[in-house]
Amino acid sequence: METAETRLAEIEGRIARAHKRFGALPEAVTLVAVSKTFGAEEIEPFLAAGQRVFGENRVQEAQGKWPALRETYSDIQLHLIGPLQTNKARDAVALFDVIETVDREKLAAVLREEMTRAGRDLPCLVQVNIGGEPQKAGIPPDEAVAFARRCIDVHQLDIRGFMCIPPADEPPGPFFAHLGTLGREVGLPWLSMGMSADFETAIAMGATHVRVGSALFGHRG
Ligand SMILES: *Cc1c(COP(=O)(O)O)cnc(C)c1O
Repeated sequence: METAETRLAEIEGRIARAHKRFGALPEAVTLVAVSKTFGAEEIEPFLAAGQRVFGENRVQEAQGKWPALRETYSDIQLHLIGPLQTNKARDAVALFDVIETVDREKLAAVLREEMTRAGRDLPCLVQVNIGGEPQKAGIPPDEAVAFARRCIDVHQLDIRGFMCIPPADEPPGPFFAHLGTLGREVGLPWLSMGMSADFETAIAMGATHVRVGSALFGHRG
């Protein structure tokens, strides 16, 4: 029977095999389990099975489930992987451990203010709209390097690297490779890329973090 434990072991095994065969970097790959839309009762078995790093795309939804789970599992690492409005930045800084979606100057400035206020300097990623899609969040690829440098030098954010969601209707490999090029240009170590359908390709292109939702939790209703 499929349980949280067997699904987790299967995905971890696939990550380890892809990393061993194709991994572009020696560092281990971190599995970010994307639990958006799933409730605490569906998340808990994954915590019991040992998973600690999770991704959520909405601040309010995450506020509704994670504080209670943290009372039992104090070492949870929560990543914000969805667009962040500046008026939610204070709540995001209080709840999350990593912000993966820094994508504009105003947000960088507000995050700096809120992190200083809270005394929390969270690791951040710059989200790149790697396919240049009008409906998607992220800084355009040709502005990403300069923006990341401004986040570091001007806003004093702890920028660790880049994150992207490539176009759904094209092979993702070249987009992952492009994100890797941007990361090397700034000299940043983290690349958050790859989801349920393409995380092995992302690992081959140097992903350090893969964000896997449906392959772990099942289809979102
Ligand atoms: C939902 C989501 C994922 C996970 O997608 P799956 O295809 O379910 O693995 C990864 N990254 C982001 C930014 C998401 O919003």
